[in-house]
Amino acid sequence: MPDISKNELKLNTDICVIGAGHAGCEAALACARLGFETMIFTVSIDSIALMPCNPNIGGTSKGHLVREIDALGGEMGKNIDKTFIQSKMLNVSKGPAVHSLRAQADKSDYSRSMRRVLENQENLTIKQAEIVEILFEGENGKKKVKGVVTNTGTTYYCKAAILCTGTYLKARCLCGESITYTGPSGLQAANSLSASLIENGIKLRRFKTGTPARMDGKSLDYSKMEEQFGDERIVPFSFSTDPESVQKEQVSCWLTYTNEETHNIIRDNLDRSPIYAGIIEGTGPRYCPSIEDKVVKFAEKERHQVFIEPEGLYTDEMYVGGMSSSLPEDVQLKMYRTVPGLENCRIVRNAYAIEYDCLEPNQLQLSLETKDITGLFCAGQFNGSSGYEEAAAQGIIAGINACRKLSGKEPIILDRSEAYIGVLIDDLVTKDNREPYRMMTSRAEHRLLLRQDNADLRLRRVGHEVGLVSDELYEKTVLKQKLIDEEVSRLKSVIVGASSRVCKFLEEHGSSPLHTGTSLAELLCRPELSYEILSELDPERPILPNDVIEQVVIFIKYEGYIERQMILVNRFKKNEKRLIPSDIDYDDVSSLRLEARQKLKQFRPENVGQASRISGVTPADVSVLLIYLSRFNESKD
Ligand SMILES: Cc1cc2nc3c(=O)[nH]c(=O)nc-3n(C[C@H](O)[C@H](O)[C@H](O)COP(=O)(O)OP(=O)(O)OC[C@H]3O[C@@H](n4cnc5c(N)ncnc54)[C@H](O)[C@@H]3O)c2cc1C
Repeated sequence: MPDISKNELKLNTDICVIGAGHAGCEAALACARLGFETMIFTVSIDSIALMPCNPNIGGTSKGHLVREIDALGGEMGKNIDKTFIQSKMLNVSKGPAVHSLRAQADKSDYSRSMRRVLENQENLTIKQAEIVEILFEGENGKKKVKGVVTNTGTTYYCKAAILCTGTYLKARCLCGESITYTGPSGLQAANSLSASLIENGIKLRRFKTGTPARMDGKSLDYSKMEEQFGDERIVPFSFSTDPESVQKEQVSCWLTYTNEETHNIIRDNLDRSPIYAGIIEGTGPRYCPSIEDKVVKFAEKERHQVFIEPEGLYTDEMYVGGMSSSLPEDVQLKMYRTVPGLENCRIVRNAYAIEYDCLEPNQLQLSLETKDITGLFCAGQFNGSSGYEEAAAQGIIAGINACRKLSGKEPIILDRSEAYIGVLIDDLVTKDNREPYRMMTSRAEHRLLLRQDNADLRLRRVGHEVGLVSDELYEKTVLKQKLIDEEVSRLKSVIVGASSRVCKFLEEHGSSPLHTGTSLAELLCRPELSYEILSELDPERPILPNDVIEQVVIFIKYEGYIERQMILVNRFKKNEKRLIPSDIDYDDVSSLRLEARQKLKQFRPENVGQASRISGVTPADVSVLLIYLSRFNESKD
């Protein structure tokens, strides 16, 4: 630890947020907006909300997270609505549960715009400084956050600290045999804080992720690629963005493919890949594989998709999506130049892999506060997740809960039936993830209820209760729900007779005739009939906003599935409500199997539902635990 003791500058604040990436920005904004004096630290102010990898926000399941952050009163959705350069709703040919918005961002605009929001936020101070130490004090045998120390020796005393250090702790970047000890994009790494955390009993591990090269767009031949357009009618991410304000000209992305020649160059040089040469210690994301991994693991595939995406409007730099790598530069150039359209490509930034220290997240509570240190919260890539959206989602929850901790209020814990954010955090702190965790719709068992289109109806109430959503916005959502409920019951109550006019109308729309009076709702369930088509049989219908109609149609068409899902949710919630005392002694639960006892001691679940999701804890173990808890509670009464 550098000797910086001479600096006597000691300052006070309420909350220190370490990191101004996607997690740190949401956490700091939440704390400042809830009235707490907040400091946000970053090694470089020019990298606020930096997108060191893919130039887009959203995508399958990630779009859901952005909508949920927005519904809670977060910033990411609004920020991308201001800075996107192309927007597309994905999976529209599938059911609404997997519809997901993805927007290409102008990266520097996104960062600049988020910086403006931070700079204009009351109670928030931005500081370019590396935090090298966290200060703690003991309280009833349990440590408590007291402050943070910068690389210049300044101390900031605070009541809570939120660690959002991303991919910077003890970071090193690998490009073939070349290793540089920097953070992403050549930024300074943070090399001191890990030691301070380990000294105070925090367990860290080593993860890695990778990014592809960036090309000079002028050196690419787009005539050899498939142009990918944005949607004609753009849907905003934020529920508070006026849809008319985002209708604008968009840029294109391009699709091309690798081929056998590409794959052979990679196979011939695997010995020079730090991943396959065993130089890389950290574990990488299975669902964001490098091109080396794809060629090795999916050897039967003749080609892999490559998406050429603009990094912004004011640069020719192009991102080569699908080809992240850590192969040496000479191999990179050879491999990229085998891809149609890239034959003469000029690389402006090499592809590389980055390794960094991050947390063993089973040290966290569902509130994202550490179990053993009061007032220390963690969010983002530092918790073992991967992705801007996953980071931002944890950031807002950590920020909210740090504030509630200081206000003596119960933490906000969203469970798996309420939000993708709930699935994300529960999976991070309960499951033994051995690689960076990326959100996917398949992870959410209640995904039909957790759609991106109803995030406001699910979470605005929470955002309002917390104090991040204004009364006006909340009342708008309450009114929206009321209009939805009224229209659903109206459609169920309006009966259409089986007259010849109606039967002729149905026939004209390829729908079978009626034999008896049928409700409009039943008709709407017919795939060939839409709400718009049925307007001819429904002259009395009220004029409703599009977002209300969207909810009405989804509810009526999927009502059966939704009801069945609700039964599962009620069963799930029962176990979530069965709390486990934090000081339970699992050695006292006699008939627990050894593996289950070890896992329960390691993860210290907060409720029976969480216990049942720990790998190695069987339903039989859960029954044993339930019996023990009921006796435990009886003995207390
Ligand atoms: C090379 C690379 C490739 C990636 N590839 C993918 C991918 O393929 N798919 C994907 O989903 N995601 C990928 N990511 C991850 C994505 O960038 C992150 O998930 C996201 O940026 C995490 O946000 P965060 O807020 O947790 O951390 P970051 O965005 O990393 O921000 C961390 C912040 O903490 C600050 N900081 C760190 N330590 C200190 C300290 N001690 N003192 C003060 N400030 C500090 C930094 O200055 C920075 O502001 C990649 C990232 C990198 C770097």
